[in-house]
Amino acid sequence: MLGLMQDWPLTVDKLIDHAARWHGDTEVVSRDFEGRTTRSTYAAVHADAKRVTNALRRMGVQPGDRVATMGWNGARHLAAWYGIQSMGAVCHTLNPRLFLEQIAYIANHAGDRMLIADPSVADLVDQLLPLAPSICDVIWFCAAEELPAGTAQGIAFDDWIAGEASEAAWGEFDENTACGLCYTSGTTGNPKGVLYSHRSNYLHALMTLQRDALALNARDSILLVVPMYHANAWGIVYSAPAVGAKLVLPGQKLDGPSLQEQIVAEGCTYSTAVPTIWQSLLTHLDETGLGLGQLERVVVGGSALPEAIVTAFRDRYGVDVIQGWGMTETSPLATVSIPNAAVAALDQQGQLAYKLKQGRLLSGLDLKIVDDEGARLPHDGRTPGRLMIKGPTICSAYFGNEAGSALDGEGFFDTGDIASLDQQGYMQITDRAKDVIKSGGEWISSIDVENIVAGHPKVALAAVIGVTHPKWDERPILLVQLRDGVSARPDEFREWLGDKIARWWMPDDVLIVPSIPLGPTGKIDKKEIRAGLTGYTLP
Ligand code: ADP
Repeated sequence: MLGLMQDWPLTVDKLIDHAARWHGDTEVVSRDFEGRTTRSTYAAVHADAKRVTNALRRMGVQPGDRVATMGWNGARHLAAWYGIQSMGAVCHTLNPRLFLEQIAYIANHAGDRMLIADPSVADLVDQLLPLAPSICDVIWFCAAEELPAGTAQGIAFDDWIAGEASEAAWGEFDENTACGLCYTSGTTGNPKGVLYSHRSNYLHALMTLQRDALALNARDSILLVVPMYHANAWGIVYSAPAVGAKLVLPGQKLDGPSLQEQIVAEGCTYSTAVPTIWQSLLTHLDETGLGLGQLERVVVGGSALPEAIVTAFRDRYGVDVIQGWGMTETSPLATVSIPNAAVAALDQQGQLAYKLKQGRLLSGLDLKIVDDEGARLPHDGRTPGRLMIKGPTICSAYFGNEAGSALDGEGFFDTGDIASLDQQGYMQITDRAKDVIKSGGEWISSIDVENIVAGHPKVALAAVIGVTHPKWDERPILLVQLRDGVSARPDEFREWLGDKIARWWMPDDVLIVPSIPLGPTGKIDKKEIRAGLTGYTLP
């Protein structure tokens, strides 16, 4: 027997419809490519999104067609996003920080038929177009007078939608229809396309709104630092409109001064970014003595959260730091570290240990850790294993490889991360499988060592890499990028680690380097570091 409730397909047009209808005056504030601030509202973004749908239809775009965007976080990008998805076309976010060859590979693999791009990436687009012949039309996220110079083709976004009606039919298709396409950054082989559905994005928005997850609400003003091309800005492009939170979209410039200024000026209560962004904001605050206004909570994800970030935000600015874990394939958020009753009863130091774990599973997902043969491992907080995940917001196969299931026999997806689970269900990542350091048959967690070194006052960034060793197979070495204007001896960092890690975890060598390379999403790029170490031998 079936239930007798209404059939209401979970399609994302309903999220922006809701925001426009019930939170229409709530602001959407953007910085453009020249650093100017423009103010809009959910009602206005919604109207522009309808205009985008009409403009797309006028150009013959059909449901299922891939329409690429290459832009920073801004109101025009948000309108394009919903205009594309709500008519049943697929919004393919391209990351402008990737190499040209990677972007071309991705655009061709996706079969993008048009591109909407920010004028600041005009040079890149000019180089891309000859390499991506499926892209027939280019629209620029700007007004007519801001069109990039020297670019023969392309229409200004404002002109493109100006004559269109602010009403258009949306939705009315299966909730499993494809909605967005996002490629992993290809740190292991070619980038792979993750094809989100309307249903998965809608459910992800609801799941992340749980109190023990992102807990956004209509009183929040969110500085959305994590880019829209980085796994849907962790889903906040859906969850913020769903609850009517104010959105502050910072554009291209994500340096400390730009972020601090917007946090204060826009009364931001909430923000999200990878750790390297927070590190540079904290350095700027240290240097200037400036504050963070009404900021209450920051969410950190994408790579492990160093203790120094938690304590600096907490002790100097009264801001709570919350760690989340996920990946492009998991929509992305899957675990969040929020205290349960037992952890909440601990003192501040006791709670800190749990903040540094990646957290507990969102309701609606399932998780397991297994050994190399696929056997489940105990939840003892010590035994590391392959982290596997299952649920309606988890990828089942990659775009273009639909027949090749990405799942094990029980329907779990292999995250490629190595993690432990404790008795209370807190998950802790020890490494990505490809970064694991195996010394004498035992794993050394590069993440743990990096986080301890990151707490040293002279350190801007730290990375630990495994290097081949004749006796132990691999040994760790430490690379340190110092803060501006300081000097240090390599041994200072071994002394700092001395009483904080097991003896056999101690890096065999410490290299002080001018800079540690960051990848296209702001994470430390270990592939690049390894390439730079070719020919290196342990002392
Ligand atoms: P990529 O880094 O390949 O572009 P994603 O952006 O999807 O792909 O990153 C997902 C990966 O980032 C995870 O598999 C995990 O290794 C790492 N990650 C994400 N959040 C955390 C976290 N809080 N702590 C440690 N690692 C994390």
